[in-house]
Amino acid sequence: MKTVQTAKFVSISKRLWKSNIRKYTKLLVITGLLLVVTAITTSVQPLLIQQVFDKVFKQHDHYYLVLVPLAIIVLFTIQGFTLYFSNFLMGKFTNSMIADMRKQLFTHVMENEVEFYSKNDSGSLLARIVAETPYVTVAVANFFNAWCRQFITAVGLFAVMLYQSVELTLVSLVAFSVAVLPLKRVTTRLKKLHRQINDKNAFLNSRVIESLSGIRTVKAFRKESFEVDKISNYIDDVDIFSTKTMMVAYITAPLMLVLGGFSVAFVIWFGSNELIAGRMTEGNLVAFISALMMFTRPVRSLSSSGGIMVKGFVAAERYFEMLDTTPKFISRDHGDALSVTRGDVVFEQVGFRYPNGTQAIKDVSIHFAAGKKTALVGHSGSGKSTIFNLIMKFYEPTEGRILIDGQSLAKASINSARDSLAIVSQDIFIFDASALDNIGYGREGATEEEIIAAAKAARCHEFIMQLPEGYKTTLGFAGESLSGGQKQRIAIARAFLRNAPILLMDEATSALDPKTEADLQESLDELSRDRTTIVIAHRLSTVINADHMVLMHEGGVAATGTHASLLAESPLYRNHFGI
Ligand code: ADP
Repeated sequence: MKTVQTAKFVSISKRLWKSNIRKYTKLLVITGLLLVVTAITTSVQPLLIQQVFDKVFKQHDHYYLVLVPLAIIVLFTIQGFTLYFSNFLMGKFTNSMIADMRKQLFTHVMENEVEFYSKNDSGSLLARIVAETPYVTVAVANFFNAWCRQFITAVGLFAVMLYQSVELTLVSLVAFSVAVLPLKRVTTRLKKLHRQINDKNAFLNSRVIESLSGIRTVKAFRKESFEVDKISNYIDDVDIFSTKTMMVAYITAPLMLVLGGFSVAFVIWFGSNELIAGRMTEGNLVAFISALMMFTRPVRSLSSSGGIMVKGFVAAERYFEMLDTTPKFISRDHGDALSVTRGDVVFEQVGFRYPNGTQAIKDVSIHFAAGKKTALVGHSGSGKSTIFNLIMKFYEPTEGRILIDGQSLAKASINSARDSLAIVSQDIFIFDASALDNIGYGREGATEEEIIAAAKAARCHEFIMQLPEGYKTTLGFAGESLSGGQKQRIAIARAFLRNAPILLMDEATSALDPKTEADLQESLDELSRDRTTIVIAHRLSTVINADHMVLMHEGGVAATGTHASLLAESPLYRNHFGI
């Protein structure tokens, strides 16, 4: 078990070195050297104290009277400089490394396909990207500080102690070893607690995000205090756990202090006997005791660095775990480049099962004719959105194939497939950016003229011009300042700008007012003209206007035809519209 843990620690450290630390080698070498100088200037201090006692106090040596204070000034000045620069460089290293890790994680999260988001909620992603990354870098910085400064300081002080008295050093060594033993059990327990606390924090994050994103529902049902109680429970849970962890983490320092105190007392008693017996001078003894007192500091710091390392190790493990979530990850440019001119979409005996095993559609064959409008109708859960998900290449069919202008969608690159599509869906995302940028989201590199033309086509122009700063007006987080109809128009403008041969539309289930509705319909008709349009239809008016109808039922195609033919032939269809 222990060797497995060590092997894991070594492999994660190696990976971290290669992917995140190696590029800072130069900076770390300089920092390391500065830390070594700091360590040396600290550990020679007891030697000066020895000279003060033996040469100045006892022998009244005037040469040393000047030399020692001068040496102290030089030593402390050097230490001041090295400390400042090593702290500064180490800070620069940790900040850069945190930034690198956050960018890597965020890029990875963005690059993933939809399945990833159903497995990882935004709360835990947020925790990993923002909150946990610093633990890793703090641990790395601590590691350098521990080995380049604290360890060398400890070794230096130990050498000074040996130089003063070998016997006394051996006695102290035994006394201090006894003090270190209980610490091992504490670190093992800490490791477990840290993993649990990270999980609990991630859970809390996701619950808070959930409550906030559903704030309107919370308010409408007057569930504020219910939410407060619920979240408070999670907060309390984290609090109790943090306190528990803290109690374990903080026990190391007092443990060392108390046991260290006993050891120092014993050493003073033993050393004084040596002095009385004439085997040590006053200078020797005072220098030894100062070295010993100073020795506890780097040792304490080294022992507490265990906890920091463990915390960092756990965070690094989770960081790589996240980066490794999709080993099957395929570049979105991988595959054939689709060349779509007409926009003919054909489903050939397509079946699809979601990763959780739900068979959403089976044996679906549909021809979405180029340039025509096809309406998909059917009860909720009949598989309409799944058809969209497959065309958008969010998932690959488990059976059959999809052809676009005669080319296999499965073999096509994700990017080229999505370039041939525009979507007007119900969940319209408005960014906290200007109206211009919000519409410009529809196509990268669109000029201002093109954006305004799209806005005019979608009839956004009028209301945007009435905003305080026109197209430069920030639309506000989640488009709070826009009406439902206006948001729809922004989505339509994006689709106009995209100018793709295939248009997917997901019709609103909730009705807008009739005037807005009729206005929108005009823009939508214009948008779908000469494009292959596939619309998930809920309204009778939409299906009447469609060229072709596909009635979905329990994951299969129940009937196809025109509105008139289905009305005549399909009881299921009549039933669906309550006719
Ligand atoms: P519709 O759009 O007609 O309401 P869907 O295509 O959304 O129907 O759903 C078809 C079936 O697939 C339903 O049984 C639904 O529960 C299931 N389903 C939809 N999305 C997922 C998903 N992400 N994971 C698992 N099952 C899903």
